[in-house]
Amino acid sequence: MKKVGLISIALPLTLICGGFSNDVKASQTESEKTDATKEEKKEDMERTLAIIKPDAADKADEINKMIEAAGLKVIAKKTTRLSLEKAKEFYEIHKDRPFYDSLCEFMSSGDVVIEVLEGPEAVSRYRTLMGATDARKAEEGTIRKAFGTDNQKNAVHGSDSLENAAKEISSFFSDEEIGG
Ligand code: GDP
Ligand code: MG
Repeated sequence: MKKVGLISIALPLTLICGGFSNDVKASQTESEKTDATKEEKKEDMERTLAIIKPDAADKADEINKMIEAAGLKVIAKKTTRLSLEKAKEFYEIHKDRPFYDSLCEFMSSGDVVIEVLEGPEAVSRYRTLMGATDARKAEEGTIRKAFGTDNQKNAVHGSDSLENAAKEISSFFSDEEIGG
């Protein structure tokens, strides 16, 4: 009876301990996995430049709500008025397009809100949120659909690549303004 008693205590104990140590192993593996996922996520974190254009500067709060709802953070922000010169420099890539002068005049016609956005795949995520260049063709749920008018007055600018994002951010913000 004693032996049976020992076995009947020892066996479940071994099972419990074995099970427990397996659980610990399993949970360590899970936490290692979580760390690896976090590392991957960190690598996906991007920054992009957003400009809320003169036609929508007074809608900045509503636009920022849409930006935050899309999983992006506004990590730096300034309201300013672009000189014609600065607008021309910013859109230099379009200098041979027929709309260049008109675009630069529009961009310097009133206050703009310039922002650095941060989040996973921020460049493409924000481009999707902006919608089509021509606001009349922008998809439902996009910023341009909600606040834009046409192919010039389209409420917002967003960098089109990670490389351009870095250039555009540094042309408007110092490292101190972004917080490192
Ligand atoms: P985005 O990257 O979607 O902003 O578009 P683009 O880089 O092609 O053009 C830059 C900006 O120029 C647009 O956001 C519009 O404000 C303006 N724009 C683009 N196409 C036209 C056009 O055909 N006519 C006029 N007037 N403005 C345009
Ligand atoms: Mg563009």
